[in-house]
Amino acid sequence: LPSPTPEYLSRLNPEQRRAIETTEGPLLILAGAGTGKTRVLTTRFAHILLTGRAYPSQILAVTFTNKAAREMRERVSAILGEPAEGLWLGTFHAICARMLRRHAEYVGLTSSFNILDTDDQIRLLKQVMEPWKIDTKRWPPNQLMGIIQRWKDRGLTPDRVTPAEDSDFANGHALAIYRAYQERLIALNTCDFGDLMLHMTEILRNQPNVLAQYHRIFRYILVDEYQDTNTVQYLWLRLLAKREHGPSNIACVGDDDQSIYSWRGAEVENILRFEKDFPGAEVVRLERNYRSTAQILAAAAGLIAHNEGRLGKTLRPGRDDAQGEKVQIIGVRDSDEEARIVGGAIERLRGDGHPLSEIAILMRAGFQTRPFEERLMMIGIPYRVVGGLRFYERSEIRDCLAYLRVLSQPADDLAFERIINVPKRGVGAVAVQKLHAQARALPGPLTAAVIWQLQEGLLKGKSKDALDGLMAAFQRAKVTLETEGHVVAAEQLLEDSGYLQMWRDDRSVEAPGRLDNIRELLRALGEFGTLQGFLEHVALVMDTESETSDDKVSLMTLHGAKGLEFDTVFLPGWEEGVFPSQRSLDEGGNRALEEERRLAYVGLTRARRRAIVLHAASRRIYANWQFSMPSRFIEEIPSEYVQLTGQAFETRRQAAAAPSMFASGPLTSTRPSGFRAPRPKIHDVKPEPTVAIGATVFHHRFGEGTVIGADGPQLHINFENGGVKRVMANFVEIRS
Ligand code: ATP
Ligand code: MG
Repeated sequence: LPSPTPEYLSRLNPEQRRAIETTEGPLLILAGAGTGKTRVLTTRFAHILLTGRAYPSQILAVTFTNKAAREMRERVSAILGEPAEGLWLGTFHAICARMLRRHAEYVGLTSSFNILDTDDQIRLLKQVMEPWKIDTKRWPPNQLMGIIQRWKDRGLTPDRVTPAEDSDFANGHALAIYRAYQERLIALNTCDFGDLMLHMTEILRNQPNVLAQYHRIFRYILVDEYQDTNTVQYLWLRLLAKREHGPSNIACVGDDDQSIYSWRGAEVENILRFEKDFPGAEVVRLERNYRSTAQILAAAAGLIAHNEGRLGKTLRPGRDDAQGEKVQIIGVRDSDEEARIVGGAIERLRGDGHPLSEIAILMRAGFQTRPFEERLMMIGIPYRVVGGLRFYERSEIRDCLAYLRVLSQPADDLAFERIINVPKRGVGAVAVQKLHAQARALPGPLTAAVIWQLQEGLLKGKSKDALDGLMAAFQRAKVTLETEGHVVAAEQLLEDSGYLQMWRDDRSVEAPGRLDNIRELLRALGEFGTLQGFLEHVALVMDTESETSDDKVSLMTLHGAKGLEFDTVFLPGWEEGVFPSQRSLDEGGNRALEEERRLAYVGLTRARRRAIVLHAASRRIYANWQFSMPSRFIEEIPSEYVQLTGQAFETRRQAAAAPSMFASGPLTSTRPSGFRAPRPKIHDVKPEPTVAIGATVFHHRFGEGTVIGADGPQLHINFENGGVKRVMANFVEIRS
């Protein structure tokens, strides 16, 4: 008698069931967004347990984020009816850390090794570099760190880096320093993040007994978001899955259209390699999307069709509800209006009983959260910034605010203490203690103590010069504040104090994002009449910590949203230069652009019921307005799935008042066929200057100079008095 289908399988479609019930042998599930890949993986986990094929501890399940691991653990416990413990379930790094503790001695560590954070990594690398006497201005340690990380992503220990793969960093010293750095880490009984994968893969490669042990433990291997694995992760998986005797019970799920981490070494080719490495692998395709409405799905499919070299997948609507709403595309005047419209729409949704936890605002880059955060705070809608800090809590923003607070109020000791040695000026803890003592003796604030000590000649050497320079920077900014206003003064202060240069010199992957945040801060400053008004606003905004309810709107980057879903998704900032990002456009060619398009596809397919894309006709750059073009991705969405709402540039008389959730907001019209994204007709917009090589520019601090090169938004300028410097394009005036 055939046993009845268990309840947990009965709700799935035949392909999904096949993917779950084919437990033995290699399996690749290749399917588009929202087709139930993650759900299949989770159910497969439960199925293996419930059919007695393995104990929970015999299944290795790799997820891409801790959040995904948590969700999978919860789903497995729900199906099992008891808490799931002792599972090998987590991110690649979490699982490797746990393994490495058991076998640390093979790489010369003990099981209590520490894991370094990024700051410590760089500090250590700098120490290691010292004997080479490398000009760190020319060859910044952060850049070398990046090279080392890429090697680690590719599973290359120093012994495995071939001369052909060596880098020309510091005229060929990269590999030698890499080797020394690794030795130093071991001597300190520490490893960095990349070492977790690297060491463990090396151990599995070199220690047959360890490998055999894991072959005995792991009967089944499950991998989510397989398209974003890098080489070392791939090698690690292959070692664990490929056994001499018996089948490789490895199931990977992925979607080549959602590969968005190539900048971190991910290799979408790993999908193609799978069938070669595991001959006879079963390939299952899932074609029904259960997440999004037919309209959203068709819009996303039309967009991603513009990429070449796809593996090709069919995606059909699987939800039985109606067609749903078209993707809304709203043109707004500027970022204020963008935030206002999104805020208003969220208020209306909340009024209709829509849970806030089912709403997300997804952006291309972290700095874009700021206007939305302020708007949501103002109208009292709780939100969380997922995978990052709230804008005004980010460390570079706090640094800048500290500078501005001192400028506005020199007696603000807390602020002054924060920046007295940022960037590093050689003012150590002892010097600060002495300043405190002096301040008490005066009595007065720290800044007064500094001035006193300078006047009395009590300071010597490096700290004298440093504090002299810092106080002079504040003094100059104070004058500028009176003459040219607070925005110029703020920018000048951050420049003169060396703060901006500190981030420009920083070659870590986070540095460009931090500079973007600072520019966003200066932009926000420009929205206020005075420095004091701005600082007061920030203080109030920082104080309104939203209540601890779980019902909050999620703000996050598109990268962070992978695998997640929400009823309503807002996608702001779809403009050329924002999304696709300027960096991807500067790179030229299709590679970077296609990755941006995949990111757009990920964004649209997060939405269950409603996707709203916004683009602004202009954005403020300090006191100026920068004119922006709608993103090409908007044009690429087939017009029949789109409802256009453009109040910034649609002529109002052509607007047919179609009912919309934005009924009280902008006017609505359906896009005519043959649509090209309209060019905004805004008269009060200063078009962004494109700066040509050879142009003469003026910088308020360095004077006149000639542009000799560009690197994204940064210009390389040869200044008449000051030599070659890298400056943000918006910080210069074009003279000819
Ligand atoms: P992504 O590519 O974005 O990671 P995915 O392929 O992993 O998507 P899931 O998140 O597993 O997709 O599923 C998307 C949604 O569809 C979930 O809400 C899931 O519960 C639902 N779903 C999956 N399969 C079915 C089904 N057979 N019937 C009803 N709903 C389903
Ligand atoms: Mg998924």
